[in-house]
Amino acid sequence: MASTPSHIDTLLLHSGIAEFNPKTQSAPVALPSMRTSTVRFANMQALDQAIAEKSRGERAATYGRAGMDTHAALEQVFCDLEGAQRAFLAPSGLSAITLAFLALLNTGDHVLVADCVYGPVRYLDKTVLGRLGIEVSYCRAEPQALEAQLRLNTRMLYIESPGSLLFEMLDIPALSEFARKHGLVLVDDNTWGAGYVYKPLHLGADVSVVAGTKYIGGHSDLMLGAVMAKDPDLVRRINETHYAMGYSISADDAWLALRGVRTLPLRMRQHAANALEICRYLAARPETLRLFHPAFPDDSGHALWKRDCQGSNGMLAVELALNEAQARRFVDSLQLFSIGYSWGGFESLTQLVEPSALAVHGYWQDGGADRSVVRLHIGLEAPQDLMADLDQAFQAARQ
Ligand SMILES: *Cc1c(COP(=O)(O)O)cnc(C)c1O
Repeated sequence: MASTPSHIDTLLLHSGIAEFNPKTQSAPVALPSMRTSTVRFANMQALDQAIAEKSRGERAATYGRAGMDTHAALEQVFCDLEGAQRAFLAPSGLSAITLAFLALLNTGDHVLVADCVYGPVRYLDKTVLGRLGIEVSYCRAEPQALEAQLRLNTRMLYIESPGSLLFEMLDIPALSEFARKHGLVLVDDNTWGAGYVYKPLHLGADVSVVAGTKYIGGHSDLMLGAVMAKDPDLVRRINETHYAMGYSISADDAWLALRGVRTLPLRMRQHAANALEICRYLAARPETLRLFHPAFPDDSGHALWKRDCQGSNGMLAVELALNEAQARRFVDSLQLFSIGYSWGGFESLTQLVEPSALAVHGYWQDGGADRSVVRLHIGLEAPQDLMADLDQAFQAARQ
């Protein structure tokens, strides 16, 4: 007898398993990448049924854009992870964010956006939202500060917890209460939590957006986004816009994401353990002024992290007593950390955070020219090798 697994780790491992062929009673383990540009039906009745399901807003593929079994399996993974009713796939994390904005906002609406969000969200505002007559205010994501920015036409609160550069933990339950009180839809970018170590929909958010490019894929070889919701009305609105805008992802990318997500639990635990070890190492370095990693006990968001998260990941930022030239030398000298913007893959990455990006960040107190902030993604390499690499880079920075 098949038993229903109760643990998400088991669910993830058994997602995207191929069905038996009725004739041979055999099957491969993994569902193949079901590439198709269209869907063919055995008869008119089958097509009619699919059309009827689609018009009720259910998942039914009548054409290639919706994708078939590979896509459906990945959507189920996102639903299982986030505790959502439906998941809508997008070709990148940023396009998933765009989908949420365009599905949930109308001309004349105003949206409050947390000031710690992923930088390119501000570009969406400058280029598209303004042109459509959607007003945006950036604000520190705390009820008091948000209250002061409320307008009669405010419809949505868009946040990212923890924040994109310094990993500030936001109080999602408190923000959810605020949003409910003022009739706002609360949307959270949950790329950091990947639906695995942080569950915004359980904590009161209405919509969760994830860049699957990061930890879901986990191998730095695909672009992917997803938008998740529980409430039937929100699901309907996202579904309509998703369809109208022609969002579609390749079956091969869905397949890669399914392959990646089976090891998400293992990878996340190892990234988190490695990052904590690097935090302890950095905390003991004379150059370190402040560490930003919510699972590290000294982090200002540690209590919130303990209350709301089930784990952590490999992301951290560190403020160093290095001027810009020294910090550039430090980053350039790292051998095992590649210089690059992304994160969530198996490998370590680093990025020198630009002061202009920090300037718009409400949580940042400018420390002056003799300080720099470096963001590190701690990969799955042996931590002692990463520490040796950091050691030699600190030495090079001082020369
Ligand atoms: C990378 C990232 C995105 C965008 O994802 P892409 O797939 O690169 O478009 C969105 N939000 C956060 C927090 C990210 O780190």
